[in-house]
Amino acid sequence: MDYPDQCRCGYTLTHPMVETSEHYSVPGWLLLVMGGTPRPVRVDYRCTRCAVTLGTTTNRAVLRDYWQGGKR
Ligand SMILES: [Zn+2]
Repeated sequence: MDYPDQCRCGYTLTHPMVETSEHYSVPGWLLLVMGGTPRPVRVDYRCTRCAVTLGTTTNRAVLRDYWQGGKR
């Protein structure tokens, strides 16, 4: 699947208006509900203004960095 380099607002992946949306596995969700910090199985990058998805990653190394660098 192809994603645009920038959304309809002209924002790129690194723009502050482009936020990440984490997706968890079922065990991940359970951990999340219990107040844990599960590692996401997929992260989407989506513009908060126009809701265009600019990219997604399931790369384990990226996800691990994302998780460790995390928003807790
Ligand atoms: Zn946008």
